[in-house]
Amino acid sequence: MGAPGAGKGTVASTLKETFGMVHLSSGDIFRAVKASGSELGQELARYMDAGQLVPDELVVKMMANAIAENDESKGLMLDGFPRTVPQAEALDAQLDAGNTPLDAVVVLNVDDEAVVERITGRRRCPQCGKGFHVKFMPSARGEFCDECEGDVLLEQRDDDTEATVRERLKAYYDQTEPVIGYYRNAGRQMIDVDGNKSPSDVADNLINQIRSAGLS
Ligand code: AMP
Repeated sequence: MGAPGAGKGTVASTLKETFGMVHLSSGDIFRAVKASGSELGQELARYMDAGQLVPDELVVKMMANAIAENDESKGLMLDGFPRTVPQAEALDAQLDAGNTPLDAVVVLNVDDEAVVERITGRRRCPQCGKGFHVKFMPSARGEFCDECEGDVLLEQRDDDTEATVRERLKAYYDQTEPVIGYYRNAGRQMIDVDGNKSPSDVADNLINQIRSAGLS
């Protein structure tokens, strides 16, 4: 759990490397459907490009399929889902039915202004997929990818503009933060991490907490 730009995707990659878990990101799944241009993709785009949450019914159906398709013996790390209390309830029902309950809930805490700076500066190469940040991880070739031949212009995600980020933060506080309370009240194992630190410090802190909680 964590606000947009808290570093969920970044820390998830490190956890995947460290523990070999499967990483399931709802945002990545939805972006792939959106890129297909299908009718469902166009419907998702209407919400995503406005910084709004996709309706629960649609999310629960898509994520239930994605989870069911996975081999849970490797361990599953959910990123970006659940984002509302009804989604969390639907997930609990699915995991209980499969006798694969949640082991832990990770909460990455980060300041709003840091989120805006992180997200609006994100760039990605459309050709090789390499990620950059205009301030924290700039390309050696400015606006162009420094990995690719020729002048491949770096792109910004449609929903990474400042106005959309502020909408996404609002959606986070209104709809997603209550999910953290839902899990705390249910007595779940909670792991809180200071997401304002560098990616390697965040990952080290989280890995240590996972190990000391006996979860690895
Ligand atoms: P993300 O990459 O996690 O920031 O997700 C990008 C966008 O996808 C969000 O701003 C939402 O529009 C949509 N989205 C991703 N996950 C969910 C979810 N669990 N519930 C509703 N909308 C979602």
